[in-house]
Amino acid sequence: MYRSLGIDEDIYRIGEKTEEALKERFAVIDRTAEICQMKVIAAMQKNRVSTECFETSTGYGYNDLGRDTLEAVYADVFHTESALVRAQITCGTHALSLAMAANLRPGDEILSPVGKPYDTLEQVIGIAPAPGSLREFGITYRQVELLPDNSFDYEGIREAIHENTKLIEIQRSKGYLTRPTFSVEQIGELIAFIKGIKPDVICMVDNCYGEFVETLEPSDVGADLVVGSLIKNPGGGLAPIGGYIAGKREYVEQCAYRLTSPGLGREVGASLGVSRSFYQGLFLAPTVVASALKGAIFAANLYEPLGFSCVPSASEERHDIIQAVTLGSPERVVAFCRGIQAGSPVDSYVAPEPWAMPGYHSEVIMAAGAFYQGSSIELSADGPIEPPYAVYFQGGLTWAHAKFGILMSLQKLKDAGLLP
Ligand SMILES: *Cc1c(COP(=O)(O)O)cnc(C)c1O
Repeated sequence: MYRSLGIDEDIYRIGEKTEEALKERFAVIDRTAEICQMKVIAAMQKNRVSTECFETSTGYGYNDLGRDTLEAVYADVFHTESALVRAQITCGTHALSLAMAANLRPGDEILSPVGKPYDTLEQVIGIAPAPGSLREFGITYRQVELLPDNSFDYEGIREAIHENTKLIEIQRSKGYLTRPTFSVEQIGELIAFIKGIKPDVICMVDNCYGEFVETLEPSDVGADLVVGSLIKNPGGGLAPIGGYIAGKREYVEQCAYRLTSPGLGREVGASLGVSRSFYQGLFLAPTVVASALKGAIFAANLYEPLGFSCVPSASEERHDIIQAVTLGSPERVVAFCRGIQAGSPVDSYVAPEPWAMPGYHSEVIMAAGAFYQGSSIELSADGPIEPPYAVYFQGGLTWAHAKFGILMSLQKLKDAGLLP
């Protein structure tokens, strides 16, 4: 089967050997998925999820049982007072933008204690001038870089917090950076330190790509808000759109009033038929995340021995589903992404090209033979065309597909004569 799909004998053998050596680590991942699965089932049972919850609403969406129950389920999964989970939240950037805009007022300051936030947030915050940015509303921003060893600069953070500091933005995942992703434990330590200086500051965690990777979430260790996208981990590959914000009731309520309108809040917002896929996606998410994690570890263990630096490294513990592989040249980034594309169930016959995508400051190449546009819990790879020419690989609804896609990426590098 592999041969007929374009994988040669050599690449297949390397794959088998690599997988064989990862059995124990895969067992640990399966155990985490088991615990997360129980968390989701418990939340669904407690909130009496029923077939009526899969009905749809239209128009204003008043009394949408499925939508309201799902929000209670999310709140229980994340152990928070409240949650907003909506199709009207269009993506992760929107969810983060919403959470900040809803809870900040002119004169307030945002602090990122972990260096530069995700690319798309630069325009949201107004680090780079952008129409509609928080900066245009008189909201200021400050960041404290990580120390050279990637630990938190506690002294710098202490100095950066002042009277107007209102919201702390902590990005869990590395995103498009080569710094490590933070563990939930590290995030908990950071939040405890910050709350020790200013107890009433809002600690918001950009939870994108982190959900269900560990048995605890940032909301279990003091985060006031956790925010993410449903076309990543918690949507389980089935949510066709959406974002969530979970946390303290007063902050989540502000988000609801900002998302719809003051006075209306969470009472409106028709579910338009997506409720069933939101529930089913959340139900599958723990095992889908496990598949993606196995793929990430497999990729690191395949590429690192070939001399490509990997973040996380082949042996490191995982805190998100992203695998960065530094390939060192634009040609390799393109070949890698074309391999992932060629291994996809959808659009496998097309060859991706680098493109100036909205929200990103350099050209980006993206491989995504996905059922949903841009869904990065599905096997996907993307890389900004800039030094050090790293690709960021993530997702895989099933382990078998993740494995095949990664083998295909290696095959494309080999076929183009780009392996060292
Ligand atoms: C993907 C991502 C976002 C933005 O989500 P979109 O759905 O692409 O808008 C924000 N932060 C991090 C860390 C992400 O990985």
